Amino acid sequence: MENSDNIDSTVNNSRPNSTADDNEEDEKDVWLDLIGIAADPPDRREKCENCHRPQVVCWCSSVPSPPLRSRSRIVILQHPAEQKRCLRTAPMLSLGLEPGKCLVFRGKRFPQSRQVEGDVSLESIMTAKNTLLLYPSKDSIPLDDLDPSDGLFNLILLDGTWPQAKGIYATSPLLHKMRQVRLVMSRTSTYVIRTQPMEGFLSTLETAAEALAVLERDDRFRDELVRPLQTLCKFQLANGAVEHQSKEYLIKNNQYNKPVGHRLNKLLRAAKCSKSAEESNNNDDDGGEKKLSES
Ligand SMILES: [Zn+2]
Repeated sequence: MENSDNIDSTVNNSRPNSTADDNEEDEKDVWLDLIGIAADPPDRREKCENCHRPQVVCWCSSVPSPPLRSRSRIVILQHPAEQKRCLRTAPMLSLGLEPGKCLVFRGKRFPQSRQVEGDVSLESIMTAKNTLLLYPSKDSIPLDDLDPSDGLFNLILLDGTWPQAKGIYATSPLLHKMRQVRLVMSRTSTYVIRTQPMEGFLSTLETAAEALAVLERDDRFRDELVRPLQTLCKFQLANGAVEHQSKEYLIKNNQYNKPVGHRLNKLLRAAKCSKSAEESNNNDDDGGEKKLSES
């Protein structure tokens, strides 16, 4: 490999009195040099040390600086498939909050014995009295109803697609025992690059930002934490990514040309039912309840 950077000098040094043997030697040298060159050019795209993305798509300049200080802590239980997605939002959250205020644990069921961050074990978090699970079950209460003066909460988010989140819930009995909360809001996702399954489904970052704004009674969390995502989306859209409508929107407008899965169908029917119920009640002041977390 040491020859790879002097190919030019070798080519320019062909000797004037060359014999057939010399020519053969020269040719061999050239071939050796060529072999020394990596098949693909080296990855010259400098990576950002912070977000580990190539510099051109680094979103770090949009991360709140200094990181936001929250009393409550976000705990993300992430499905392993989520880490492989190219547009993940959990790192944006970790960097936007003070160290220790966003913990990420990966797996398909929780807790497991080795799930420890610093000196905090996930099991201790999951059994603590002040831990909440953001999960829109029928027993869940609106996050706004909690008394913020209760102080520090651990808010658990399940990070994955809706079926993955339900899978994690089903295999993690401790989750069933904790207080469950839901977000009540009607904002549409900033995360336009990926088709969201339903109107108003939010990425994990957006969900956490919204939840912290409610828990801390401070809009900075809602406004500032999502900026890296907005930067990333702007960049992707400027570079040819297509802005995606949610599947729900596409189906409603007859623009969705893939088969609709059983689960999505069920969700859509449920959304339709709750919408018509709301309309008939005619007291729709909170705009409908939205999800959990989907990025
Ligand atoms: Zn960066």
